Amino acid sequence: MNYNKKKSILIGGIWHETNTYSKKKTFIKDFKSYQWHENDNLIKKSLNTNTEIGGFLDVLNQKNVNIIPSLFTAAVPSGIVTKKTFLKIVTKLVSYIRNFQIDGVILALHGALVVEKIPLAELFLVNKIKEKLEKNIPVVATFDLHANLSFELFDVCEMLIGYDTFPHVDMRQRGREAAQNLCAIIENKKKPKKFFKKLPILTVPQMQSTSETPMKEIMSSVFHAEKKMGIDTISISPGFPYSDIENLGLTVIGYGSNTNVLNTECKKLLNLIILNKNKFSPQFLTINGLEKKLLDIKRLKKPIIITDASDNVGGGALGNNTEVLEILKKYKLSGTVVIWSPYLRKNKFINKFFSKSVGTKITYEDNNLPIIDGYIIFKATNFSYIRDGLYMTGQRVNVGNVLVLETEFKLKIILTENRVMPFDDKHIKVFGIEPKLEDIIVTKSGSAWKIAFGKIAKTILNVDTNGICSSNLKKITYSNDYVNTFWPLNE
Ligand SMILES: [Zn+2]
Repeated sequence: MNYNKKKSILIGGIWHETNTYSKKKTFIKDFKSYQWHENDNLIKKSLNTNTEIGGFLDVLNQKNVNIIPSLFTAAVPSGIVTKKTFLKIVTKLVSYIRNFQIDGVILALHGALVVEKIPLAELFLVNKIKEKLEKNIPVVATFDLHANLSFELFDVCEMLIGYDTFPHVDMRQRGREAAQNLCAIIENKKKPKKFFKKLPILTVPQMQSTSETPMKEIMSSVFHAEKKMGIDTISISPGFPYSDIENLGLTVIGYGSNTNVLNTECKKLLNLIILNKNKFSPQFLTINGLEKKLLDIKRLKKPIIITDASDNVGGGALGNNTEVLEILKKYKLSGTVVIWSPYLRKNKFINKFFSKSVGTKITYEDNNLPIIDGYIIFKATNFSYIRDGLYMTGQRVNVGNVLVLETEFKLKIILTENRVMPFDDKHIKVFGIEPKLEDIIVTKSGSAWKIAFGKIAKTILNVDTNGICSSNLKKITYSNDYVNTFWPLNE
């Protein structure tokens, strides 16, 4: 940047995809145990990572900006964030705005954060930051493709830039794009023209993959529009439907220097989406349908990936639904399934055979906890590994205590103390299981599993269990009357 004086830019953020249907509330310990980086540690932990902050740093270091690190924290998707937790995070982040001149703020947000008793929590955070700054200091933020964006957040930020990919692999690129735009806003002292529109369309994660219809075609139209003169950037957020809030739906956001071109291109995109909305309808099997398919397993090419999207850990479900596991046991089918078992810490496993309920009171009645059994073939305490796939590369995954059980018919059941998301094949490989040799792999995931096992999948079976991230949105109760008029609820 051509400044006389070195500019100062504050970086930070909060990331949480809140599933308001989960009974597992999110507390400060959930943030501290997943990602909590502040001050110089934020820079150290983020440099050269495929994260938004990693992308901010790429650009800000190159531009010779004075970087002021604050706090970035994230928790695994789960239930509503407590007010106390959120206020602690806000206070901590804002405390880094001290007595120096700040010329701009860049934040990594998710866009689907829901906090008890604070509607529009991300807006609340931006307003708290703005209160401590001089007037007209620009705030630019990134957001996840699953953001449920409000007009109010859009209005208060100079620019919002969303991921273009799902499964998400472009966090660093979007971080760079956001930082470049913030620097241009500061340098030119000129704010871009803006476009915002929400459509009353609800879509499920398993139909939002940007390498498949209809998102593939929608995104290629976005990239085409972004090449036009007068347009800086356009983002589409299909949104996250498992949240009982007002600001649901698909959002189109755009920025540029020419209002006419911007409006025309964004409206074209809106029309394209409306025309193609039926292509967002998911195909899925009921649990009985899955059972029928598996009865004829000899005809299915292996590995078979069974996606239990209703129990999607990355969508805030617990990852401990055992409906699919029960079927595999019933027909003595071999394969691998991962089940969240939070009580592992309390037990010492000295016997070779395990037979116990691993259910949680959060999902099951006390007298109805499913029993899981098998020979212990692997056990570890405080187990962790580093992600080496395309998603969140370099991130440490804290699995906690682990037990891997095996039945006599070679069904492996991986019990993990912490909820883990299948973002790379280490999800099972670290326990000595070779994915491509498995008959069946059950993933608790909507689409993110594709980065881990997409390449080896020979058969994919999507099943709709009783988890809270159902593919069938008509099973979800929305308390807002307006949301009940959205597609596909209105069909
Ligand atoms: Zn997402």
